[in-house]
Amino acid sequence: SYQPCREFNVVVLGAGGVGKSCLTAQFVHNEWIESYDPTIEDSYRTQISVDGRQVVLEILDTAGTEQFVAMRDLYMKTGHGFMLVFSISSRTSFDELQTLRDDIIRIRDDEKIPIVIVGNKADLEDQRAVDRAKAFALSQRWDAPYYEASARTRTNVDEAFTDLCRQMLRRDDS
Ligand code: GDP
Ligand code: MG
Repeated sequence: SYQPCREFNVVVLGAGGVGKSCLTAQFVHNEWIESYDPTIEDSYRTQISVDGRQVVLEILDTAGTEQFVAMRDLYMKTGHGFMLVFSISSRTSFDELQTLRDDIIRIRDDEKIPIVIVGNKADLEDQRAVDRAKAFALSQRWDAPYYEASARTRTNVDEAFTDLCRQMLRRDDS
C-alpha cells in the first residue's frame, strides 16, 4: 500500500565538544571534518529509507548558545525525536544527559517521546570514563536505546539515527 513520505524534526543535544556536529556531518554528508565552530547551530535536511519507507529528516545540530530560554523551549516543543549525546571519555558529559531529558519531558509532558542515547568517541577506548554498564543502566531506566558510536570511524552513526527514525515512525503510526 502507498505510504506518504513522513517528515520529522530531530534535535541533537549534549554537552559542548561531545561530537554532535561531527556525528551530524557523518550522517548527512558522509564526511569526517576534524573541527567545527562550537558556537554554530545549524539544521540539515536529509532523506533516508527506513524499512522501505521514505523519511525526510530536519536535523538540528544544537550548540547550546541560545540567547533566550524560549528558543530552547521551542525546539524541544517541535522536535519529534531527540539524540542525546555524551562522550565516553567525559563523565560530566554523561551526567548532563539527565537534565536534558528532564527538560524534554517537562516541556513535552510525554514520557514516551522518541530518544536515543549515544556514547560518542568509542574509538577512544583508552580514555573511557563512562562504563558501558552505567550507560546501559540509564538506557533501561529511560527505556531508550543506547549506542556506542564514533563519528571519527563512522561506527553506529547510521544505526543510531535509523533507530530514532523507527521510533518516530512507530509513534506516528499509532
Ligand atoms: P560538538 O560541540 O558536540 O558539536 O562537538 P564537535 O562535533 O565539534 O567535536 C568536538 C571535538 O571532538 C572535535 O575536535 C572533533 O574532532 C572531536 N570528535 C568528535 N567526534 C569524535 C569521535 O568520534 N572520536 C574522536 N576521537 N574525536 C571526536
Ligand atoms: Mg557543534
